[in-house]
Amino acid sequence: MRESNTMLYRIEENNLLSEFTIEEIGDDHLFSSLETPLRKDAFMMSSQEKKEKIASLFKEIMQVMGLDLNDDSLKGTPKRVAKMYIDEIFSGLDPKNKPKIALFDNKYQYNQMLVEKNIQFYSNCEHHFVPIMGKAHVAYISSGKVIGLSKLNRIVQYYAQRPQVQERLTNQIANELKTILQTENVAVIIDAKHLCVSSRGVKDDSSTTITSYYGGEFNTPEKINELQNYLK
Ligand SMILES: [Zn+2]
Repeated sequence: MRESNTMLYRIEENNLLSEFTIEEIGDDHLFSSLETPLRKDAFMMSSQEKKEKIASLFKEIMQVMGLDLNDDSLKGTPKRVAKMYIDEIFSGLDPKNKPKIALFDNKYQYNQMLVEKNIQFYSNCEHHFVPIMGKAHVAYISSGKVIGLSKLNRIVQYYAQRPQVQERLTNQIANELKTILQTENVAVIIDAKHLCVSSRGVKDDSSTTITSYYGGEFNTPEKINELQNYLK
């Protein structure tokens, strides 16, 4: 039995209501919404102001851990971390970094599935802030519009560069593709390794996590089979 004073979160999925404590949500890698949970004031501060603030806070974390910030090797770390957070590994939080994508007519009348496989990405687990790395495979069947192949990679990278959970990353990429390509016929498969599982916690170095989204025409055994054959 849970203690009655423990704060519980309720998550509804497939009409099943489950209750979790905040700690359990993090360690079991559950997630609560499709949207990345951002506050309304998330972009009130400029990127520069954020970097300065993060550098000073990260410096404090290092100091609390007893590290000597006068050491030449450590001195620059708070600034480096802040710059890396805002400009690189979490840059996908900021909508202004969203890739601009031009849509073209499907001139070749190619109407079978297009698969872009093995898109390498790096992300970070939002529960532990340690890397998630893996490969994304994305596919779509054109509704009359197409986009440049490299844009598929850019969409994956953009959503990967946020604190993430793999299920949300999968769905965010699928949603974006559906919106841009104006079709339900998109599929996304992600196979990734979570360092919070391999380097800490249960320390399982061999497992990977696979998530998938099959929309529209992809959601049939034949199409799933065809797609999986291409991915072999
Ligand atoms: Zn984690």
